[in-house]
Amino acid sequence: MVTWRHHLHKHPELSFKEEMTSDYIASILESHNIEIHRGLAVTGIIATIHGQKQGGVIGLRADMDALPIQELNEFSYKSVHDGKMHACGHDGHSTMLLGAAIYLKEHNDFSGTVHFIFQPAEEGGGGGRVMVEEGIFDKFPCQAVYGMHNFPGIAEGQFAVHDTAVMAANETLKITIKGKGGHAAMPDLCIDPVVVGAQIINALQTVVSRNVAPLNSAVVSITMVNAGFASNVVPDEMELTGSLRYFSNEIGNKVKDNIKSIVEGISKSMGATAIFDSIPNYPATINTPKHAELCAIAASMVVDSNNVLRNEQPTMGSEDFAFLLNASEGAYIWIGNGLVPEDGPKGGCMLHNTQYDFNDEILHIGSSYWIQLVKNILK
Ligand SMILES: [Zn+2]
Ligand SMILES: [Zn+2]
Repeated sequence: MVTWRHHLHKHPELSFKEEMTSDYIASILESHNIEIHRGLAVTGIIATIHGQKQGGVIGLRADMDALPIQELNEFSYKSVHDGKMHACGHDGHSTMLLGAAIYLKEHNDFSGTVHFIFQPAEEGGGGGRVMVEEGIFDKFPCQAVYGMHNFPGIAEGQFAVHDTAVMAANETLKITIKGKGGHAAMPDLCIDPVVVGAQIINALQTVVSRNVAPLNSAVVSITMVNAGFASNVVPDEMELTGSLRYFSNEIGNKVKDNIKSIVEGISKSMGATAIFDSIPNYPATINTPKHAELCAIAASMVVDSNNVLRNEQPTMGSEDFAFLLNASEGAYIWIGNGLVPEDGPKGGCMLHNTQYDFNDEILHIGSSYWIQLVKNILK
């Protein structure tokens, strides 16, 4: 498994371009006579293993894509693809699922069928969405689907399982303020969109603090500001771009209503007009308690129940496994990659960091979890 992981790490590919990755995984599956279906969401692979007896059907998912990051690690298997890096551990996720598939092919003393889902484009490409749109669950009906992501900051040998919310929904905010440009020395003849934008940015800081109940969560961040081209010209327009995160659609909709009121109200009061739009990226990743319990039991059988953290705080990050969970029941868990601080064990380096690496010491733990989950559910 370490050999596979290092091969994948050395050859990272970006979203929907995981061609060599997909070929490599497919060749290992085929060399073990495992039935595969390719081409779903461009590079996706579904590998299917039947147990000795008939029974239910479940899906297990790993992601395959890398990030557009220049790797700064200096080990033998560092990325040979310039500007691309497995900085989120998807090399490890694919390897753990591959290990479980090969084990279960050789030890198929379970009742039912397992679909092993190797998914492209988790990093912003929405590979999970495309798989659902291309009919993954029509072609491969599953009673439930399960996902797992490594998590730096959680110790090696531990898991974290959430009963409901794990990761937030993520939308891109776009605000265009239209004023009236002109000479910087004659502001009275202009409607300055920069001043309007400044008021809006300030006022947006109250959306969460004054409108969302303190024990609920949302984030509104303006992250890009774009206006103007010369020091002596008031521009016509200003564009603000940002990020919205939330767990419940009710709160997400309330926050968007508040943003719209502020954007339109401030613009109107200052003589400008504004357009507000929010583009959904990923929905929230919300587990079903029944399936979270099955995951926690399987994890406890691998690492002991003391090492299965229950209902830790979710993160405001997001995950496109949400699309699979919106189309099927299931659950998504975290496997510890090692503790921070960064001068501690290497597994503690945060995701998407130039020095991140998946921890090889957890490969067998993750594979054992998948195997145990199958044996528990498909008894
Ligand atoms: Zn990532
Ligand atoms: Zn990831």
